[in-house]
Amino acid sequence: MNLDLTPEELAFRDDVRAFLDEALTPQLREAGRRSTSVFTDRDFSMPWQKILHAQGWAAPSWPVEFGGTGWNDMQRYIFQAECARAGAPGLAPMGLRMVAPAIMGYGSEEQKAYYLPRILSGQDYWCQGYSEPGSGSDLASLQLKATSDGDDYVLDGSKIWTTHAQFANRMFCLVRTRFEGKPQAGITFLLLDMATRGITVKPIITLAGDHEVNQVFFDAVRVPKTGRLGAENDGWTVAKYLLEFERGGGSAAGLKVSLARLRRVAAAEGTLDDPAYRRRLAEAEIAIEAIEMTEHRVMSALSSGKNPGPASSMLKTQGTEAMQRLDELAIEAVRPWSQVEQRQARAPASNIEPVGPDHALQAMPRYLNNRAASIYGGSNEIQRNIMAALVLGLR
Ligand SMILES: Cc1cc2nc3c(=O)[nH]c(=O)nc-3n(C[C@H](O)[C@H](O)[C@H](O)COP(=O)(O)OP(=O)(O)OC[C@H]3O[C@@H](n4cnc5c(N)ncnc54)[C@H](O)[C@@H]3O)c2cc1C
Repeated sequence: MNLDLTPEELAFRDDVRAFLDEALTPQLREAGRRSTSVFTDRDFSMPWQKILHAQGWAAPSWPVEFGGTGWNDMQRYIFQAECARAGAPGLAPMGLRMVAPAIMGYGSEEQKAYYLPRILSGQDYWCQGYSEPGSGSDLASLQLKATSDGDDYVLDGSKIWTTHAQFANRMFCLVRTRFEGKPQAGITFLLLDMATRGITVKPIITLAGDHEVNQVFFDAVRVPKTGRLGAENDGWTVAKYLLEFERGGGSAAGLKVSLARLRRVAAAEGTLDDPAYRRRLAEAEIAIEAIEMTEHRVMSALSSGKNPGPASSMLKTQGTEAMQRLDELAIEAVRPWSQVEQRQARAPASNIEPVGPDHALQAMPRYLNNRAASIYGGSNEIQRNIMAALVLGLR
């Protein structure tokens, strides 16, 4: 695969660079650089999305009819790589990358016309209501009950690990509409308004000290049936389709930036003098190169609005494991400072004086936060099961 850029692609890259130079404020760059999670703080991701939207670049992988850019695979890749290189904040994936393709694939014309422009402009902020206490890997066992009552469903139960539910005004949610028969055949996919009476959001503070996830409680919550995506009891089909988009998506561009940063940190700390450390860094680099090639192969499926299929499981597994490998190497490089900096990151508003170099500040919070990457979106063990069944035929 030849990844050398043609003169036209180089010109496109320069246009993107010029735009990013102009549009990324120092605050946005700093937020991107300091972020210790794949989920950038909403106060930075949404202003950045609005700037991109004004430029027509908020959703490069969407079909043009819904507001995509019409870029080819290489242009989208260049854009992604340049955003990572410039330190742009990440965009929240739940709307643009997850529920939007599901609405395009399964929504009515009214649903597409209503929701997609609001997702693109950043008017709506979405969260994902899949997991429940007791239903994670075995998602089809979910129990949140939806009782049909006239034009509404009435929801009782709870969702857990709901990322950014504290910010979201919308949730896409899996509910149980039938209790008998095969569990997968009794699930319905709903789009709901988080301001509806009876919804309570309670924070869960992670090991890294972040408030990213929540438990969401539903007490007789009325959701209009017009919010249903797909047919009643056919939500499993929509849910699986959406998960392929959640698991797919690019990561090599961001990993390459992290690798370059790690090299600089390791050089500054003297860790790079150790040949064993350099060997592990080289192994990480090889893994990232392989991910980049795989991404190029599946990108064309994503670009045409098609689902990426089981390749998304491969990318999710490889991408998250490479990320964790870089985190471990970063901790090794800044070892004397990592514990101190973790204490500071947990209490940013306190009066603890910063100790150690600036480059050590994010190492431990990032390491802790990214432990979750091989769990959310379906754990990597589950991804390996999917690859065994769908790619290798080992059911
Ligand atoms: C930071 C974070 C954010 C999240 N955000 C969201 C969100 O926004 N919305 C949402 O709906 N969910 C979210 N999740 C939930 C996530 O999808 C689940 O945690 C995940 O699917 C695993 O489910 P579980 O936690 O119930 O673990 P379990 O299913 O109990 O699994 C426990 C362990 O057993 C292993 N295991 C289970 N079954 C098998 C099997 N068949 N074969 C091999 N190994 C197996 C798993 O790999 C795991 O290591 C989030 C999770 C985290 C950590």
